[in-house]
Amino acid sequence: MIMSGLPKWLFFTSIALVLMISFILVEWLNRSNRKAKPYPKFNILSIPGVKACVKAPFFKFLFQFPVFLIFCLIIYAGIYGHAVINIAPVLTWTIWWAGLIFLILFFGKAWCFVCPWDFVATLFQYLKPFGVSKKPFTLGYKWPRWLKNIYLAIGLFVLLTWFELGYHVTASPRFTAILAIVIVFLSVIPALIFEKRSFCKYGCLIGRISGLYAMFSPVEVRSADLDVCTKCKTKDCYTGNDKGNACPTSLVIPQIKENTYCILCTECVKSCPHDNVAINVRPFATDLKNFTKVKSDEAILAIILLALTSFHGLTMTPLWDSPTGNSIIHSIRSITGFGPLGAFTLGMFCVNAALGLFYYLIALITQRFVGEPQVSTKKVFLYYAYSLLPIALFYHLAHNAMHVFMEGQVVVPLISDPLGQGNNFFGTAQWYLAPLLSHSSIWYLQVGLVLIGHIFGIIIAHHVSRKLYSDRRAAIRSLVPMLIGMIFYSFLSLWIMHLDMNMRSSLM
Ligand code: SF4
Ligand code: SF4
Repeated sequence: MIMSGLPKWLFFTSIALVLMISFILVEWLNRSNRKAKPYPKFNILSIPGVKACVKAPFFKFLFQFPVFLIFCLIIYAGIYGHAVINIAPVLTWTIWWAGLIFLILFFGKAWCFVCPWDFVATLFQYLKPFGVSKKPFTLGYKWPRWLKNIYLAIGLFVLLTWFELGYHVTASPRFTAILAIVIVFLSVIPALIFEKRSFCKYGCLIGRISGLYAMFSPVEVRSADLDVCTKCKTKDCYTGNDKGNACPTSLVIPQIKENTYCILCTECVKSCPHDNVAINVRPFATDLKNFTKVKSDEAILAIILLALTSFHGLTMTPLWDSPTGNSIIHSIRSITGFGPLGAFTLGMFCVNAALGLFYYLIALITQRFVGEPQVSTKKVFLYYAYSLLPIALFYHLAHNAMHVFMEGQVVVPLISDPLGQGNNFFGTAQWYLAPLLSHSSIWYLQVGLVLIGHIFGIIIAHHVSRKLYSDRRAAIRSLVPMLIGMIFYSFLSLWIMHLDMNMRSSLM
């Protein structure tokens, strides 16, 4: 199935809107002189009954176990089911992988809460599916110092994208199942060797991507009252006690400044003897506005997410690969003589390197344009990378909206015939439904999402400029090249969306 891209009028209107919004918003932000104030938040644990539910030992299990059963179904269907008509790739790539970004947008690290790989690792470590374990089964080695960053997760994410697009894993039930099993080993083996959940914290590609995007999300785990934490001598949230396990990612609640490493497991809610842990609802993008410390690995992941999501969109267009021969892949193959995978790999490297290099050039120009020697190009590169995160996130959402709303209905007949063996368990095997949204609704939704990402990108860039430069004029000057870069990335998103797309369901 081909989904036609944005019509010309909508494409040009959205470009005009990006330009208009950019200049009006920057001007307005520069004129406003609002002082930073504490952000509003609401602790959902203060709703009667909620804290008692969260504290129940089996609370997480109630959500995690059904997801684990679906996970088992995916593996079983992938291995024993039909090679094409099969629920495994649809549930994995169209529903879960595409829907995951929406889940992060509204609920932050909620996926980690129900993660089936975490469930398996818990079974191996605790020898039971839930509850407190004073001596989890692990050799307890320290995670190597040189791996205490997210570069491993970045490498795995790049590898997964290469595997996903280069090998068309999204259309292969067998590969999908194998990938799920490989991740089981990746989560269980480190859990048995290293202390706590070091792999979740540093190496899990899903956890790290959701961790970075969760800086935008409106849900956070924080101290309800920092004074109580200051007086607390035991720090049970970190060490654990007979009510709750130690924080699996080694966090101490009063020190949490951003969502990145919290996996929303709620153990600290159970273990805190002072009932001082809050699960707050807060405004979007709070962590991105308030971050105080930049981390090179996070900044690089933000740029890679921006580049890879654009690349992902591009690979679904006939411009990238087409049976007629007029495509980027065809050109690479005829110039280099490479086979399809070699040409894809070279193309993936070139497109992503070009997008990353472009951002480096923007950072370089910004540094020279402002002319403040104490703020290096590296510093500009790292700080402003956080402002590109909303652009990456919302393009990612716009792209995934197409999968969820145009292809999600494919799951309905497969629910009755998950293995593609002609069954009709629930009577829906012949329900070939129309897409959830019409083409035009998807177009408006996509344009709206790109515009929202652009607006948030500018707002974060404004905050970043004030963090980087104490001089107001220098801060405003630094925004000029950055704004041009942001407009370019948003144009790119819209340009990709105006091209026709080969949908995944056409491979079924
Ligand atoms: S969250 Fe609870 S256990 Fe952790 S430092 Fe604060 S008061 Fe102590
Ligand atoms: S124990 Fe608390 S802070 Fe640590 S990962 Fe779980 S929810 Fe987050």
